[in-house]
Amino acid sequence: MKSSWSQAEKLALFVFAAALLLLCTFPQFAVIPLVLFSCCCFMAPFIPGWGFFLPVISRSQTGSPGIVLSFDDGPSPETTPMILKLLADFRYNATFFVIAEKAEQYPELLYAILEAGHTVGNHSWRHDSLLMLRSSRTLYNDIHKSQQLLSHFGIRPLLFRPPAGITNPRLKSVLQKENLQTVSFSCRAFDGGNKRIDKLAERMLKKIRPGDILLLHDLPPRNGKSVSALKNECKALFTGLQERQYDVVSLETLTGEAVMEFYHSSTQQ
Ligand SMILES: [Zn+2]
Repeated sequence: MKSSWSQAEKLALFVFAAALLLLCTFPQFAVIPLVLFSCCCFMAPFIPGWGFFLPVISRSQTGSPGIVLSFDDGPSPETTPMILKLLADFRYNATFFVIAEKAEQYPELLYAILEAGHTVGNHSWRHDSLLMLRSSRTLYNDIHKSQQLLSHFGIRPLLFRPPAGITNPRLKSVLQKENLQTVSFSCRAFDGGNKRIDKLAERMLKKIRPGDILLLHDLPPRNGKSVSALKNECKALFTGLQERQYDVVSLETLTGEAVMEFYHSSTQQ
Protein backbone atom coordinates (compact mmCIF):
# COMPACT_ATOMS: atom_id res chain seq x y z
CA MET A 1 0.00 0.00 0.00
CA LYS A 2 1.20 3.49 -0.78
CA SER A 3 2.42 5.28 2.32
CA SER A 4 0.90 8.63 1.28
CA TRP A 5 -1.17 10.54 3.76
CA SER A 6 -4.83 9.75 3.93
CA GLN A 7 -7.47 12.39 3.20
CA ALA A 8 -8.32 12.36 6.92
CA GLU A 9 -4.71 13.12 7.91
CA LYS A 10 -4.38 15.92 5.36
CA LEU A 11 -7.74 17.40 6.34
CA ALA A 12 -6.85 17.20 10.04
CA LEU A 13 -3.74 19.33 9.41
CA PHE A 14 -5.77 21.84 7.40
CA VAL A 15 -8.50 21.96 10.05
CA PHE A 16 -5.95 22.48 12.81
CA ALA A 17 -4.34 25.37 10.89
CA ALA A 18 -7.74 26.89 10.05
CA ALA A 19 -8.90 26.63 13.67
CA LEU A 20 -5.69 28.30 14.89
CA LEU A 21 -6.06 31.10 12.35
CA LEU A 22 -9.68 31.66 13.32
CA LEU A 23 -8.76 31.60 16.99
CA CYS A 24 -6.46 34.57 16.34
CA THR A 25 -8.92 36.46 14.13
CA PHE A 26 -12.53 35.42 14.70
CA PRO A 27 -12.40 33.15 17.74
CA GLN A 28 -16.15 32.69 17.78
CA PHE A 29 -15.84 30.72 14.49
CA ALA A 30 -12.83 28.61 15.48
CA VAL A 31 -15.01 25.66 16.35
CA ILE A 32 -16.55 25.44 12.85
CA PRO A 33 -13.69 23.58 11.08
CA LEU A 34 -13.50 21.17 14.02
CA VAL A 35 -17.21 20.43 13.81
CA LEU A 36 -17.00 19.88 10.03
CA PHE A 37 -14.04 17.54 10.50
CA SER A 38 -15.95 15.59 13.15
CA CYS A 39 -18.88 15.23 10.74
CA CYS A 40 -16.54 13.85 8.05
CA CYS A 41 -15.07 11.35 10.55
CA PHE A 42 -18.55 10.27 11.56
CA MET A 43 -19.87 9.78 8.01
CA ALA A 44 -16.75 8.45 6.26
CA PRO A 45 -16.82 4.87 7.64
CA PHE A 46 -20.22 4.30 6.04
CA ILE A 47 -19.39 5.56 2.54
CA PRO A 48 -17.59 2.59 0.96
CA GLY A 49 -15.91 4.37 -1.95
CA TRP A 50 -14.84 7.54 -0.17
CA GLY A 51 -11.37 6.51 0.98
CA PHE A 52 -11.27 9.13 3.75
CA PHE A 53 -9.18 7.12 6.20
CA LEU A 54 -7.15 5.17 3.65
CA PRO A 55 -6.89 4.74 -0.13
CA VAL A 56 -9.84 2.73 -1.43
CA ILE A 57 -10.10 1.24 -4.91
CA SER A 58 -13.74 1.43 -5.96
CA ARG A 59 -13.70 1.59 -9.76
CA SER A 60 -11.42 1.62 -12.81
CA GLN A 61 -7.99 3.08 -12.13
CA THR A 62 -6.50 2.33 -15.52
CA GLY A 63 -8.99 4.06 -17.77
CA SER A 64 -10.34 0.66 -18.79
CA PRO A 65 -14.07 0.92 -19.52
CA GLY A 66 -14.54 -2.73 -18.57
CA ILE A 67 -16.87 -4.07 -15.90
CA VAL A 68 -15.72 -6.22 -12.98
CA LEU A 69 -17.86 -8.86 -11.32
CA SER A 70 -17.20 -9.42 -7.63
CA PHE A 71 -18.97 -11.89 -5.37
CA ASP A 72 -18.87 -11.43 -1.59
CA ASP A 73 -19.55 -13.55 1.48
CA GLY A 74 -18.97 -17.04 0.04
CA PRO A 75 -18.07 -19.69 -0.55
CA SER A 76 -21.48 -21.29 -0.11
CA PRO A 77 -22.38 -24.85 -1.19
CA GLU A 78 -25.81 -23.68 -2.38
CA THR A 79 -24.58 -20.92 -4.67
CA THR A 80 -20.84 -21.11 -5.49
CA PRO A 81 -21.15 -24.04 -7.95
CA MET A 82 -24.10 -22.33 -9.67
CA ILE A 83 -22.18 -19.04 -9.99
CA LEU A 84 -19.07 -20.82 -11.27
CA LYS A 85 -21.12 -22.63 -13.89
CA LEU A 86 -22.73 -19.38 -15.10
CA LEU A 87 -19.38 -17.59 -15.21
CA ALA A 88 -17.99 -20.47 -17.27
CA ASP A 89 -20.98 -20.37 -19.64
CA PHE A 90 -20.42 -16.66 -20.29
CA ARG A 91 -16.61 -16.97 -20.12
CA TYR A 92 -16.52 -14.25 -17.49
CA ASN A 93 -13.81 -13.79 -14.91
CA ALA A 94 -14.71 -12.71 -11.38
CA THR A 95 -13.19 -11.98 -8.01
CA PHE A 96 -14.56 -13.70 -4.92
CA PHE A 97 -14.14 -11.84 -1.63
CA VAL A 98 -14.44 -14.80 0.66
CA ILE A 99 -15.16 -15.30 4.33
CA ALA A 100 -12.13 -17.23 5.59
CA GLU A 101 -14.13 -19.29 8.07
CA LYS A 102 -16.32 -20.54 5.21
CA ALA A 103 -13.27 -21.26 3.06
CA GLU A 104 -12.04 -23.44 5.93
CA GLN A 105 -15.43 -25.15 6.08
CA TYR A 106 -15.76 -25.68 2.32
CA PRO A 107 -12.21 -26.01 0.98
CA GLU A 108 -13.39 -27.80 -2.15
CA LEU A 109 -15.35 -24.70 -3.14
CA LEU A 110 -12.35 -22.44 -2.77
CA TYR A 111 -10.28 -24.82 -4.86
CA ALA A 112 -13.05 -24.82 -7.48
CA ILE A 113 -12.98 -21.01 -7.63
CA LEU A 114 -9.22 -20.99 -8.10
CA GLU A 115 -9.19 -23.85 -10.58
CA ALA A 116 -11.71 -21.97 -12.71
CA GLY A 117 -9.19 -19.11 -12.95
CA HIS A 118 -10.97 -16.60 -10.73
CA THR A 119 -9.23 -14.53 -8.10
CA VAL A 120 -9.81 -14.39 -4.35
CA GLY A 121 -9.73 -11.48 -1.95
CA ASN A 122 -9.93 -11.31 1.84
CA HIS A 123 -13.35 -10.36 3.25
CA SER A 124 -12.48 -11.07 6.93
CA TRP A 125 -12.71 -14.18 9.05
CA ARG A 126 -16.38 -14.18 10.01
CA HIS A 127 -17.93 -11.04 8.48
CA ASP A 128 -18.31 -9.39 11.85
CA SER A 129 -20.32 -6.27 10.99
CA LEU A 130 -18.88 -4.53 14.06
CA LEU A 131 -15.29 -5.44 13.19
CA MET A 132 -14.37 -1.80 12.59
CA LEU A 133 -15.48 -0.90 16.11
CA ARG A 134 -13.12 -3.44 17.67
CA SER A 135 -9.57 -2.80 18.83
CA SER A 136 -6.62 -2.64 16.44
CA ARG A 137 -5.41 -5.96 17.82
CA THR A 138 -8.74 -7.68 17.14
CA LEU A 139 -8.84 -6.16 13.67
CA TYR A 140 -5.29 -7.32 12.93
CA ASN A 141 -5.90 -10.81 14.34
CA ASP A 142 -9.01 -11.24 12.19
CA ILE A 143 -7.33 -10.17 8.96
CA HIS A 144 -4.08 -12.01 9.71
CA LYS A 145 -5.91 -15.23 10.59
CA SER A 146 -7.85 -14.99 7.33
CA GLN A 147 -4.64 -14.48 5.34
CA GLN A 148 -3.09 -17.48 7.06
CA LEU A 149 -6.08 -19.68 6.27
CA LEU A 150 -6.05 -18.62 2.63
CA SER A 151 -2.31 -19.34 2.43
CA HIS A 152 -3.20 -23.03 2.90
CA PHE A 153 -4.68 -22.82 -0.60
CA GLY A 154 -1.37 -21.56 -1.95
CA ILE A 155 -2.50 -17.96 -2.36
CA ARG A 156 -1.88 -14.63 -0.73
CA PRO A 157 -4.68 -12.13 -1.35
CA LEU A 158 -3.46 -8.58 -1.87
CA LEU A 159 -6.89 -6.99 -1.50
CA PHE A 160 -9.16 -6.67 1.50
CA ARG A 161 -12.82 -5.72 1.26
CA PRO A 162 -14.13 -4.59 4.67
CA PRO A 163 -17.37 -6.24 5.89
CA ALA A 164 -20.32 -4.01 5.01
CA GLY A 165 -17.87 -1.65 3.29
CA ILE A 166 -17.15 0.08 6.61
CA THR A 167 -13.66 1.46 7.23
CA ASN A 168 -12.00 3.13 10.22
CA PRO A 169 -8.83 5.13 10.97
CA ARG A 170 -7.03 2.03 12.34
CA LEU A 171 -7.53 -0.10 9.23
CA LYS A 172 -4.74 1.59 7.25
CA SER A 173 -1.90 0.52 9.57
CA VAL A 174 -3.37 -2.97 10.03
CA LEU A 175 -3.53 -3.53 6.28
CA GLN A 176 -0.02 -2.18 5.79
CA LYS A 177 1.28 -4.94 8.08
CA GLU A 178 -0.33 -7.54 5.81
CA ASN A 179 0.55 -5.72 2.57
CA LEU A 180 -3.13 -5.45 1.68
CA GLN A 181 -5.01 -2.72 -0.13
CA THR A 182 -8.66 -1.86 0.37
CA VAL A 183 -11.10 -2.45 -2.42
CA SER A 184 -14.72 -1.43 -2.47
CA PHE A 185 -17.23 -1.28 -5.34
CA SER A 186 -19.03 1.33 -7.41
CA CYS A 187 -22.27 -0.41 -8.33
CA ARG A 188 -24.61 -2.56 -6.26
CA ALA A 189 -28.28 -3.43 -6.13
CA PHE A 190 -28.58 -2.98 -2.35
CA ASP A 191 -29.53 -6.65 -2.20
CA GLY A 192 -28.79 -6.86 1.54
CA GLY A 193 -26.69 -10.00 1.09
CA ASN A 194 -29.28 -11.57 -1.26
CA LYS A 195 -32.19 -10.72 1.01
CA ARG A 196 -33.66 -8.61 -1.80
CA ILE A 197 -33.06 -10.22 -5.18
CA ASP A 198 -36.29 -9.14 -6.90
CA LYS A 199 -35.34 -7.49 -10.21
CA LEU A 200 -31.69 -7.54 -9.11
CA ALA A 201 -30.45 -7.68 -12.72
CA GLU A 202 -32.75 -4.89 -13.87
CA ARG A 203 -31.79 -2.67 -10.95
CA MET A 204 -28.09 -3.16 -11.60
CA LEU A 205 -28.24 -2.80 -15.37
CA LYS A 206 -29.93 0.59 -14.97
CA LYS A 207 -27.01 1.88 -12.93
CA ILE A 208 -23.94 0.31 -14.52
CA ARG A 209 -21.37 2.68 -15.99
CA PRO A 210 -18.11 1.82 -17.78
CA GLY A 211 -15.32 1.10 -15.30
CA ASP A 212 -17.65 -0.08 -12.53
CA ILE A 213 -16.86 -2.77 -9.98
CA LEU A 214 -20.13 -4.66 -9.39
CA LEU A 215 -20.97 -6.03 -5.96
CA LEU A 216 -22.88 -9.31 -5.93
CA HIS A 217 -23.25 -11.96 -3.24
CA ASP A 218 -22.30 -15.62 -3.22
CA LEU A 219 -25.00 -16.43 -0.69
CA PRO A 220 -28.30 -18.35 -0.82
CA PRO A 221 -31.22 -15.92 -1.12
CA ARG A 222 -33.37 -15.25 1.89
CA ASN A 223 -36.93 -14.01 2.35
CA GLY A 224 -38.38 -17.08 0.68
CA LYS A 225 -36.55 -16.85 -2.65
CA SER A 226 -34.90 -19.89 -4.18
CA VAL A 227 -31.38 -20.41 -5.49
CA SER A 228 -32.86 -20.80 -8.97
CA ALA A 229 -34.41 -17.31 -8.63
CA LEU A 230 -30.91 -16.00 -7.89
CA LYS A 231 -29.55 -17.98 -10.82
CA ASN A 232 -32.13 -16.36 -13.11
CA GLU A 233 -31.14 -12.90 -11.89
CA CYS A 234 -27.41 -13.60 -12.39
CA LYS A 235 -28.10 -14.98 -15.83
CA ALA A 236 -30.24 -11.94 -16.73
CA LEU A 237 -27.46 -9.65 -15.50
CA PHE A 238 -24.77 -11.45 -17.51
CA THR A 239 -26.99 -11.49 -20.59
CA GLY A 240 -27.71 -7.78 -20.12
CA LEU A 241 -23.99 -7.03 -19.93
CA GLN A 242 -23.47 -9.00 -23.11
CA GLU A 243 -26.33 -7.26 -24.95
CA ARG A 244 -25.02 -3.85 -23.93
CA GLN A 245 -21.59 -4.97 -25.17
CA TYR A 246 -19.86 -4.34 -21.87
CA ASP A 247 -16.44 -5.89 -21.66
CA VAL A 248 -16.34 -7.96 -18.47
CA VAL A 249 -12.72 -7.86 -17.35
CA SER A 250 -10.68 -9.09 -14.42
CA LEU A 251 -10.18 -6.87 -11.40
CA GLU A 252 -6.46 -6.74 -12.27
CA THR A 253 -7.31 -5.20 -15.64
CA LEU A 254 -9.43 -2.51 -14.04
CA THR A 255 -7.04 -1.64 -11.22
CA GLY A 256 -3.70 -2.34 -12.88
CA GLU A 257 -2.66 -4.25 -9.76
CA ALA A 258 -2.56 -7.90 -8.77
CA VAL A 259 -5.49 -9.23 -6.75
CA MET A 260 -3.51 -12.10 -5.24
CA GLU A 261 -0.30 -13.98 -5.68
CA PHE A 262 0.58 -17.64 -5.52
CA TYR A 263 3.00 -19.04 -2.99
CA HIS A 264 5.95 -21.08 -4.15
CA SER A 265 5.60 -19.74 -7.65
CA SER A 266 6.97 -16.80 -9.59
CA THR A 267 3.65 -16.58 -11.41
CA GLN A 268 1.46 -13.78 -10.15
CA GLN A 269 -2.19 -13.49 -10.96
ZN1 LIG B 1 -19.87 -8.91 2.85
